Amino acid sequence: MKTIYLDNNATTRVAPEVVAEMLPYFSERYGNPSSMHSFGGQVGKELRAAREKLAGLLGARPEEIIYTSCGTESDNTAIRAALAANPGRRQVVTTRVEHPAVKSLCEHLVKEGYRVTFVPVDQSGRLDLDYLYEHMTEDTAIVSVMWANNETGVLFPVEQIARFAKERGIAFHTDAVQAVGKIPIDLSASAIDMLSLSGHKLHGPKGIGALYVRKGTKFSPFLIGGHQESGRRGGTENTAAIIGLGRAAEFVSDHMEEENTRVKALRDRLESGLLGRVSHAVVNGDPENRLPNTSNIAFEFVEGESILLMMDGHGICASSGSACTSGSLEPSHVLRAMGVPYTAAHGSIRFSLSLYNTEEEIDYVVEHLPPIIERLRQMSPFWQNACEKTA
Ligand code: PLP
Repeated sequence: MKTIYLDNNATTRVAPEVVAEMLPYFSERYGNPSSMHSFGGQVGKELRAAREKLAGLLGARPEEIIYTSCGTESDNTAIRAALAANPGRRQVVTTRVEHPAVKSLCEHLVKEGYRVTFVPVDQSGRLDLDYLYEHMTEDTAIVSVMWANNETGVLFPVEQIARFAKERGIAFHTDAVQAVGKIPIDLSASAIDMLSLSGHKLHGPKGIGALYVRKGTKFSPFLIGGHQESGRRGGTENTAAIIGLGRAAEFVSDHMEEENTRVKALRDRLESGLLGRVSHAVVNGDPENRLPNTSNIAFEFVEGESILLMMDGHGICASSGSACTSGSLEPSHVLRAMGVPYTAAHGSIRFSLSLYNTEEEIDYVVEHLPPIIERLRQMSPFWQNACEKTA
């Protein structure tokens, strides 16, 4: 059975071009880039070229990039660094819909005695900017607002928020893990102080992330050790992954237009195909202002997990809006923050596409998913209830 992979916000296929470029760093080019000898020094030179490629994708300077192990480390580093650099300030402002890489850290900071403001969103997942601006105070050490939501794809006006923060002397960080590679980003004329990204979301390898730190931003390292990354993150460089991330940055930059035309058209074809064939199905999140590859659809009165299992039987990979890891089947905090009703949040499925998807794959999903929903609804007491009420 062929796999139809529509879960690219979870992770992406490493582009073959990226793999090819990484392979020598597992075999003949194993030198340590910090070594004095030319065998290692040559690797150091190649890492500098990779850093320039990643900086190029962001409109940043190479020295403004700090490599990390993942998006989570980048997010944790940014927020901790701002708190350490501004010890007199005890408040963090963030949103109610952040990825756990920010959300869980902020909840942890509350236990450490910091004050955290979680800014609400409306039913379309749009941020309450008035609330956000009102809650920035002289006590705010950092404002951290994601660029693109991983579940709904909804985009936040981070540049506008960053400018507001800058005017008040407050550091601004954005978790751009889902945005980088999908939409154009130019930090050269931006007010953003720090930005997180992750290699495996942009057709690069897992185990590598980066934190952009604008020149002049107060910073304090998270991992203290060797002099790597100009003393801002200790630890021998993950050379193969850094090379891979550099190539991935070139790859997504070359395909950015395709992401915003062909991939977006595929996403729209999937959405209209499903909404046209399934009743009581709605798109979660602002349909206009969102990533071109993401569609989060609520199929009311069915369990997301059951849909996923049955789609899996057809080789279709997607994600649900519930976090069933705890066994509680609690709907996602993002959908709850948006006020999505319980019966819709439970049946919410995230489809996230990439440039490797084809029209045939989308048509296959549009053909096979509606009968799955129909079958599950026949077994659902919520659906029977709803039918009786409308009869
Ligand atoms: N931030 C967002 C918005 C994400 O979607 C993810 C991963 O899904 C992360 C952070 C964490 O990235 P990583 O898996 O590289 O730690």
